[in-house]
Amino acid sequence: MRPLLEVDRLSKSYGDLPVLRDVAFHVDEGESLAILGPSGCGKSTLLRILLGLEGYDAGEVRGPVDRAGYLPQDALLFPWKTVVQNAELPLQIRGVDRKRRREEVASRLPSFGLAGFEDAYPHELSGGMRQRAGLLRAVVSGAAVLVLDEPFGALDTLTRHRLQDWLSGLMSELHRTMLFVTHDLEEAVVLADRVLVLSGRPAGVIGERGISLSREERSDRLSPLFYREKDGLLSMIRKGDER
Ligand code: ADP
Ligand code: MG
Repeated sequence: MRPLLEVDRLSKSYGDLPVLRDVAFHVDEGESLAILGPSGCGKSTLLRILLGLEGYDAGEVRGPVDRAGYLPQDALLFPWKTVVQNAELPLQIRGVDRKRRREEVASRLPSFGLAGFEDAYPHELSGGMRQRAGLLRAVVSGAAVLVLDEPFGALDTLTRHRLQDWLSGLMSELHRTMLFVTHDLEEAVVLADRVLVLSGRPAGVIGERGISLSREERSDRLSPLFYREKDGLLSMIRKGDER
């Protein structure tokens, strides 16, 4: 299978600060790849480069950057637009007529838990709802790959768990390719088919682990199977720290 996205020996500095060093990986079509790394190591920078929003110093990026649906760390909804108006924006930009874009958004509102909130403004929504609205916008765009930056990082633990389980279910229905960054081991285990572990800044790939749990096993954060995956990732991080 040909990878959808390939990154080769990517390096980037901000002035004297090296942020990414020789980062290399690929994302296969249909898979969910987590990039796990400590805060400040360069995860958001990496995603912005992949999306073509930021330049880089060396290396190569091959993939559908122009067909990515991006959910930034904070959903970045337009505050003067309603949920529907925000969600339909990618279709509006492509010139899809109003009736068709409204139908497309309306058909997805229930599975995003936003039915009844179509005319609400972002400030009227909870943090979790804003992230779901942002993700709805990314999904509606028909993107070849969904790119998520710590999607639930700003939420409280219970809400975060609930939304992680929800997204895990949604992805198994949507069959989309997903690439997300996180500093949260559990988020990686719940949502990823494969996890890349990054070192501290400058970020480089220090390990990789496939997660082969069923959906039920992924949602049981206290089970021995879940714990084993988490522990595997943790020991990879520790080994990286010793280097
Ligand atoms: P992460 O998302 O992993 O927390 P970031 O990619 O946001 O990390 O940042 C990595 C490092 O690069 C940090 O030290 C941050 O301060 C720095 N940085 C990020 N963006 C810029 C920028 N536009 N100019 C200068 N430094 C930046
Ligand atoms: Mg970040």
